[in-house]
Amino acid sequence: MSKWPIGVFTSIDAGLGVHLGVAAELNVPSVQIHAPHKDTRSPEAAAEFLGKCADAGITVTAVFGGFEGESYADIPTTVRTVGLVPEETRAARIQEMKEISDFTALLGCDTVALHIGFVPEDRSGESYRGLIDGTRDLLDHVAANGQQLNLETGQESAEHLLDFIGDVQRDNLFINFDPANMILYGTGDPIDALKKVGHLVRSIHCKDATWAAEGLRGTEWGAEVPLGEGDVGMETYLRTLDELGYAGPLTIEREIAHDPEKQKSDIGQAVRLLESLRESIG
Ligand code: MG
Repeated sequence: MSKWPIGVFTSIDAGLGVHLGVAAELNVPSVQIHAPHKDTRSPEAAAEFLGKCADAGITVTAVFGGFEGESYADIPTTVRTVGLVPEETRAARIQEMKEISDFTALLGCDTVALHIGFVPEDRSGESYRGLIDGTRDLLDHVAANGQQLNLETGQESAEHLLDFIGDVQRDNLFINFDPANMILYGTGDPIDALKKVGHLVRSIHCKDATWAAEGLRGTEWGAEVPLGEGDVGMETYLRTLDELGYAGPLTIEREIAHDPEKQKSDIGQAVRLLESLRESIG
């Protein structure tokens, strides 16, 4: 692939992405997909999806795991329900993530990705140690499939994410950088964060957001907005990626699945914005 192919975050039957048809209609050459429900993770479903991708000239660059019972309703609910952090569901979700890795292999894709959840602060605590062990177990399965795992950013600071990845001690654990999440969760300036973790960034989201009011950051959500209309600064974001040597897909994410018409038109505008920035920077 040439430098910075445009991408779109898509869904088959789960998650907040657009359908593949939207990517095809916009002539976008790459997609990340949200893993489909268990029943749709069959070899037949993989073959059917790959056929549609081939017809549209689309490459699948990453498959994101997601689980029943996760809710992003507000930040405290997200802490309680998302990823591999909640202890009561951890073992079952690690098992499901291994199955998602196997489905990803059926798609001929070398990258799985995940919101791991809010990594516990205390690096000597039992929950943190358990998370390390579970992540290693998952990564060994992912490695056996010839894959890497990219962690979505935003739920912790850049520093804490680096500590966690260092503590896991596996060479197939990387980062999917989402600048808007740093703003939405109030975990730090996205460009500063990108510079800190850039050496581990293997995939990215192009998403934009505005900060929550001062004093509420980290407690209440900021707002996700169309690309270029938020506080990320798309030109600075792409220039920083360029300086870091990132040449992979620019995958647009617009998480308003409740309004598919606006979702599609916002993504169309985002494609044009990224193409023009790529022209002037890349
Ligand atoms: Mg994202």
